[in-house]
Amino acid sequence: MNRQTDLQHIELFIDGRHVKPSSGEYSVDIDPATEEPIAAVALGSKADVDVAVKAARAALKVWGGMRAADRGRILQRAADLIEEHSEELIQIESRDAGKPLGGVRRQDMPAVIDTIRYYAGWCDKITGSVVPTRPDALTYTVREPVGVVGAIIPWNFPMMIGMWKIAPALACGCTVVVKPAELTPLSMLRIAELLVEAGLPPGVFNVVTGKGSVVGEALVQHPDVNKVTFTGSPNVGRGILQGAASNFKRVTLELGGKSANVIFADANLDRAARSAASGIFFNAGQVCSAGSRVLVERSAYDEVVDRLVARAKTIKVGSPEAPDTTMGPVVSANQLKTVLNYIDIGRSEGASAVIGGARIGKKGYYVQPTIFAKVAHEMRISQEEIFGPVLSVIPFDDEQDALRMANGTAYSLAAGVWSADIGRVHRMAAGLKAGTVWINTYGYTDVRLPWGGSGESGFGREHGEAALENFTEPKSVWMAIDQ
Ligand code: NAD
Repeated sequence: MNRQTDLQHIELFIDGRHVKPSSGEYSVDIDPATEEPIAAVALGSKADVDVAVKAARAALKVWGGMRAADRGRILQRAADLIEEHSEELIQIESRDAGKPLGGVRRQDMPAVIDTIRYYAGWCDKITGSVVPTRPDALTYTVREPVGVVGAIIPWNFPMMIGMWKIAPALACGCTVVVKPAELTPLSMLRIAELLVEAGLPPGVFNVVTGKGSVVGEALVQHPDVNKVTFTGSPNVGRGILQGAASNFKRVTLELGGKSANVIFADANLDRAARSAASGIFFNAGQVCSAGSRVLVERSAYDEVVDRLVARAKTIKVGSPEAPDTTMGPVVSANQLKTVLNYIDIGRSEGASAVIGGARIGKKGYYVQPTIFAKVAHEMRISQEEIFGPVLSVIPFDDEQDALRMANGTAYSLAAGVWSADIGRVHRMAAGLKAGTVWINTYGYTDVRLPWGGSGESGFGREHGEAALENFTEPKSVWMAIDQ
């Protein structure tokens, strides 16, 4: 506890201002690159969630009652402010999550700004329709905000995935209580300040930091929360679905993945291997759609393994602050333990680590980029999500064999296929069980294109027009016109 007294104390953000946690307790937020404390962050409680939900409920009238175009203007102003403060946000996110500065600058930050601008534009375009039913009636639909939204977000892209939820919810006229991951709460709290500065009325956006088992559960169980949008692990997602049954909350779940990147021998093997390597090593493999299984047609297997190893050798693992770093640490001591444990499992299953396979140094949660060859489809390293820089390379014989394995896990979030045969890539795209299929590329997302999965990858779609359905309820109006 002494350790906490010298640290900056970061409070909850409720009803437009910073609020001390009712418990008076804080947890120490750790820098994954140095294992040094960054700040003491408020540990919210069930009582704090209750206060935040009340504020969000009260603010619904203000926010939902505003002209839609005015809501859009506030969100555009918020996008401008976020852009103006982007370097500050990049530094916060990089330190909190151990993400290389360059990656946050190139990927996370532009996506955050793009997302809020995109949904700001939707505010005054969320329409219903006049539906022809009977000649003596005017029948039409309107889309109303679903109400108070609980947004529970993970640590791998705290700001970006957070914005994927917040921006469409606000555009639809909902109010929001965000629960950031314990490991990475800082960027959302800064964004809360910027949203209020942009003119968001108090209570429309609230952040309650703390434990998933306390704050997350309180949000999920709360009778006055109408919708929970969650990104995280399948186990927690399952519990959320059960908890949300208490008042029949609507739920969207974006869960894990074990995505296959399928490379045929006729593909451009240089491009395929480069892309497959960044598909697994980007963000130290802590990506829900990481291409953590590369399936290679048997005749090209050895060549692709060699090329993947050559790419892995070019990765510069190091401090997130260093300009030449391409891979930072994993996020926490726990995550490090999980990843190293999977590497042991891979070895004990008989796979061979052709590069990597160990921790780097003793300070900071760094892991070597690791590639396993001689992996069989049934092995645990080929079936279970590792969420670290560990790739399994598996040979296949033909299209059917590739599809059997690509579709042969509990997940179905994303997949890639590489081939010069145009008929084959479309057959594969149709056959792959995934919410997104990349052809001759890997890993791109865009806020205009629906994103999500099925099976243990969850359900519902974020992004695009599809996300507006998550945060609105259609209402049918029937008016007699025969009098
Ligand atoms: P996690 O499930 O442990 O935590 C996610 C969030 O849920 C955190 O904010 C956490 O505090 C909260 N939480 C934990 N227990 C809770 C409970 N009982 N009730 C309510 N909330 C609770 O996941 P994580 O470790 O933060 O993230 C990694 C996982 O997220 C991986 O499985 C990954 O695949 C998945 N993920 C999926 C996507 C996607 O778009 N599909 C994106 C990123 C991450």
